[in-house]
Amino acid sequence: MATESPHVPENELDEILEYCNTLRQAPVPGNDSLPEGFTGTIGHFPVYFPEEIAHAAGLLPMGLLGGGNKLELKHADAHMGSFICSICRSTTEMGLNGALGNLSGFVTHPICDAAKHLGGIWARNFPEQLSQILYLPQNVNTPGAVRYIAAEYQRLRAEMEKKAGRPTDDESLRASIRAYNRNRQLLRELYAIRRDEPWKLSCTESYLLVRARTRIACEEHNALLERAIAGIRARNRPAQDKPRVVFVGGFCEQPPLEMLEAIDDNCYVVDDDLLIGLRWLTADVPETGDPVWALAESFVERSAASPVQHDERKTKEGYLMDMLRTSKADAAIVTAAKFCEPGLDEQVAWSKHLDEVGVQYLVLEFEEKMTSFEQMAMQLETFAESLLFATA
Ligand code: SF4
Repeated sequence: MATESPHVPENELDEILEYCNTLRQAPVPGNDSLPEGFTGTIGHFPVYFPEEIAHAAGLLPMGLLGGGNKLELKHADAHMGSFICSICRSTTEMGLNGALGNLSGFVTHPICDAAKHLGGIWARNFPEQLSQILYLPQNVNTPGAVRYIAAEYQRLRAEMEKKAGRPTDDESLRASIRAYNRNRQLLRELYAIRRDEPWKLSCTESYLLVRARTRIACEEHNALLERAIAGIRARNRPAQDKPRVVFVGGFCEQPPLEMLEAIDDNCYVVDDDLLIGLRWLTADVPETGDPVWALAESFVERSAASPVQHDERKTKEGYLMDMLRTSKADAAIVTAAKFCEPGLDEQVAWSKHLDEVGVQYLVLEFEEKMTSFEQMAMQLETFAESLLFATA
């Protein structure tokens, strides 16, 4: 699908990063300011949303990642209990205060009870929008899993076509898969830089670059990443004496930027699960054959693990240990969002296993609406110093 790129700074890496930071808080575009080829927008809640299907239907995918720490909650509390995590509350607030009023539709998944119920809240409060729950399988280790996911993807595709008012053909879906495959290649390249030369790209910068895709078309994001990667490779920054760590626990609710900056100040984050919902397919999707089947098969065979995917081939401990090994990390920062049951469950399992295998780790809890980071910064400083002392 050809798209007309809105303004993207053409020059320096700093300007690209600044642009990405602006996009982080940018509103959902109205239908009159969409890139060419798109007639509406689909908001999708983390984690495993096949953006290619919306993209091919002409509905620009908008990743919904909550309201951050500047949003004041005025309406959401009337719709959900106080024990619900921040991202669910702030996403609801943004729906109710009109910030997501330009969406043509909203898709969530049953990753947890709170996320699943967002579908009902949306349908009741915003009847003009398409509201869908994408039912991914609870167990992917059955022979029928690919067939089931393909049928669910086809159902979603038909709903989106109805909303967009036009059918899609397999060729346009293959074109979307091609665009996203290019995106996947670029994101893998970005993370390879983080592993190989972490002094060239901080976790915060990488986060901003990846997150930009929640507000722009994949094609524009590809062009942005190509220029950014060239700029990062050309950077002349000296390596510092910092421990190499992996960050886990950012798969759904997003930690505040200030928290990532505090980690960057003390450690090189050489791998993470931040924004995993924008890069959950770990290899290219086949560009020939039945495109829906190819996407469904990719979910089963080539998708990133997270606390909300249940696949007996990917144990909680196993995928963390893989991250540590492949990124040659010294230690782990094991986080969970406040009130996130799947995340807190995983945090316990991870900590227990790291104790058993003797890998050092720091446990941190966060909430997207956090505003005070002094204590966390001190914890991080002490942690980094103890790691450096241990390896000295
Ligand atoms: S942060 Fe945790 S509890 Fe909240 S929606 Fe995501 S998975 Fe569910």
